[in-house]
Amino acid sequence: MRALNFNAGPATLPISALELARDELVDFAGTGMSILEHSHRGKDYDAVHTEAKSLVRELLGVPDSHHILFVQGGASQLFAQVPMNFAQEGKKASYVVTGAWSEKAVAEAKVTGAMLRHQVEVAATTGTGDGKEKQYTRVPTDDEIRVDPGASYLHYTSNETIHGVEFHRIPRVPSGIPLVCDASSDFMWRKTDTSKFSLVYAGAQKNVGPSGIVVLLAHKDLVESGRKDIPKIFQLRTVAENDSLYNTPPTFAIYLIRNVMRWLKGEGGLEEIEKRNLEKAKVLYDALDAAPAFYTLPVDRESRSVMNIVFRLPSEALDEKFMAEAKKRKMVGLKGHRSVGGMRASLYNAVPLGWVRELAVLVTEFAKQNG
Ligand code: PMP
Repeated sequence: MRALNFNAGPATLPISALELARDELVDFAGTGMSILEHSHRGKDYDAVHTEAKSLVRELLGVPDSHHILFVQGGASQLFAQVPMNFAQEGKKASYVVTGAWSEKAVAEAKVTGAMLRHQVEVAATTGTGDGKEKQYTRVPTDDEIRVDPGASYLHYTSNETIHGVEFHRIPRVPSGIPLVCDASSDFMWRKTDTSKFSLVYAGAQKNVGPSGIVVLLAHKDLVESGRKDIPKIFQLRTVAENDSLYNTPPTFAIYLIRNVMRWLKGEGGLEEIEKRNLEKAKVLYDALDAAPAFYTLPVDRESRSVMNIVFRLPSEALDEKFMAEAKKRKMVGLKGHRSVGGMRASLYNAVPLGWVRELAVLVTEFAKQNG
């Protein structure tokens, strides 16, 4: 029996994507070799690479103005790579800060700023309190986001995986300023107007595949405008010019993305998956909201994440008891991030509605028994 896996990432993958990988592991498409053993320059791997890219483009409706790229190193590497490429000398790189991940992105931009003589500004932050007490419970309104008119770009995190805070709109940005989004934990859970973005990057290990690889949608003009005074390996231009094959890519990770994209298409694509995701989030939020004296939901209703549902119980002792009860029901991955505590259930694309219903039953029963 599969574990009911609510991990924040790496997260549960569609069983069909794993089974296909198992079936093809030793002999890929009758070639007598594993895909792990194929050259990244050969035609067999090339078909996988092209299919993975094309399916992302097709499912999300990405226009021809944008490249689809794969970069190894994780989304954390992009925290440095984005300003290295696109923060122009003497200008401001602008950031919206809504939680722990955008804080990390700003911190890396400050480091590259010192090296590459660009500045960094925080265009908006919703953080309150300091240090360990710091809280993020909402996204800013458009009016709260104040971007320097000469900024190189505006960066935001569409879903804060740790704090459970999500943008349910694309923020307004002054015309001419490229919009850059870390969409790691809410990539491809629904359709979005990708033409509004100059750059979207997402660590794959939540909705689209395994860890260690990032999927990017990058406007060709932005890529072209990127800095050339940084190492070639870090230039997105190099990635784009070489179809993400400048050096040896993580071929197996891209192969798994292909399998996950096939599953997503087979399930009916993003319109269908969006309906399911909204239903899943409603089932769990409704169960939590039904016991307000027992569960605390720190995030404002309008900013609640559809992917990462964060909630607190009345005490740490009850946290432990809740998790023990969850374990008996084969549920894993419910502990909140160590920096904020409490509970977190991640309901990515591959989490079935049935698992969420079972979790909702636990939420309801547990409050009755312990409230
Ligand atoms: N951004 C967000 C929103 C994330 O959730 C994460 C990882 N959980 C990262 C960036 C960093 O990703 P990685 O660990 O792959 O570098």
